[in-house]
Amino acid sequence: MTEIKVEKTASRGTAIAPAYIYREADLTPDTYPVEESKIQQEEAQFQEVKQAVMAELEQLSQENPIFAAHLAIADDYTLQEGVIGRIKSGKKNVQQAIAETVEEVAEIFGQMEDEYMRERKADVLDIGKRFLIKCKKITVQDLASISEPVIVAARDLFPSDTVKMNPQFVKGIITEEGGVTSHVSIMAKNYGIPALTGVTGILEKLQDGSTICMDAAEGRIVIEPEEGVLEEYKKRLQEELKEQEEIKKYRSMAALTPEGKRIFLCINVGNTDEIKLALDKNIDGVGLFRTEFLYMENTHFPTEEEQFAVYKEAAMLCPQEVTIRTLDIGGDKSLPYYEFEPEENPFLGWRAIRISLDMPDLFRTQLRAILRASAFGHIRIMFPMMISVEELVQAKEMVEKCKEELRKEQISFDDKIEMGMMMETPASVLLAEEFAKEADFFSIGTNDLTQYILAVDRGNKKIASRYDSFHPAVLKAIETIICAGQKYGRKVGMCGELAGDVKAVPKLLELGLDEFSMSAGNVDYVRRTIIG
Ligand code: PEP
Ligand code: MG
Repeated sequence: MTEIKVEKTASRGTAIAPAYIYREADLTPDTYPVEESKIQQEEAQFQEVKQAVMAELEQLSQENPIFAAHLAIADDYTLQEGVIGRIKSGKKNVQQAIAETVEEVAEIFGQMEDEYMRERKADVLDIGKRFLIKCKKITVQDLASISEPVIVAARDLFPSDTVKMNPQFVKGIITEEGGVTSHVSIMAKNYGIPALTGVTGILEKLQDGSTICMDAAEGRIVIEPEEGVLEEYKKRLQEELKEQEEIKKYRSMAALTPEGKRIFLCINVGNTDEIKLALDKNIDGVGLFRTEFLYMENTHFPTEEEQFAVYKEAAMLCPQEVTIRTLDIGGDKSLPYYEFEPEENPFLGWRAIRISLDMPDLFRTQLRAILRASAFGHIRIMFPMMISVEELVQAKEMVEKCKEELRKEQISFDDKIEMGMMMETPASVLLAEEFAKEADFFSIGTNDLTQYILAVDRGNKKIASRYDSFHPAVLKAIETIICAGQKYGRKVGMCGELAGDVKAVPKLLELGLDEFSMSAGNVDYVRRTIIG
């Protein structure tokens, strides 16, 4: 039996299940030399691997037309010649030849004028991976195929991994990397999956199938527990399920404080499925729709039609209110089909509204889709990462331009759509009153606000204990924002993780917060705390 103590909870809850270790494939090409007599063998291996990849893509393209471009690229002459040439003249082994050629071809695509062709760079890289996986005979684990209860343990999990997981079978998540506000933590909370992140060395201690007990609220993990410990965890799990049932009694009640203030309880989501899952929780709306997931789980920038369909569905599912945040990419969130230039400080770099304002076509596509969907419910637009009033004015002007276009095209939208902003940078706090004159509403993003106020990276496990949203400086910032909002009659919400933390509720109520938006799994608990 091994016991591990973890300092911070990513998503609370108890779980008991066998370990499922998720290993990333190492696709570094092997470096074995190729003698003259072995050249043909390497060439033959390439042809064999190519056939296998083509067959795989053929199958995929029948299920999804997106893969048609992959097929054409995999069969392309340049790729073929590049690999064979490197094997024959460069005496490279097949893996090195593929890696080098793919890099070269990807670069060519990346430099193309045409935007569609430029985006094919990601397809080339994906094909390269498929070739190498086959060459190295690696079996890639597919999180989508998990069909028995497990606790997933991984070095790290990216949004593209977590979307594949079925919450019915994934009973818990443990990762070596990541912090409590990393996206794996947020996703785990949305689905009510117990999770612990930043657990250094866990993979070394585990084997596939090892029994794990975890109590994420306490930050405890036990590997191969003794009989008595296992019983204790089983009891705890039963109690938790009982509490979850009991707490449902509060669901039908309005979130009224003992003083009689009506608090709005909303959810944070990354897709419409998460809205569907939370509809029985008596919510007042979606306080944060993280649209970046729509971009991240795609092979291309989603088109206006694709986005419109999603936002419209959200508006119709949740007629009370859906707050759609414009693209918040960059920082720790990348796109598989767009290469961001490496940055020394990505969280201080080209992200969120900065990208939208610098890429007006991209911004316009999203705003048009949001506006069109606003005809089907109560949608609000929210801009992330604001540091100057000019940015807000510019973003609002862009919305007005899109409205004008839609009017000319005789397409309906909500002309009175509210435009608000995330309060998550120190600049937005210091300029809160100026912003309050321009923004229709505020939503405090404590995940970023904490990292920027304290200068503590939200994803760095080494300093996780310093990442503290209860720090007096962060609380002071929250107070400043709420006061400024109140002064100008703006509704002030919070959609950072702090809003879903029952320990923070009394303080946030005291400061006068109007709306709490959180992962769906926390709504019942926060409601009970508010009612008191
Ligand atoms: C935040 O920063 O608090 C927030 C809600 O946004 P995200 O976690 O997506 O950066
Ligand atoms: Mg943020």
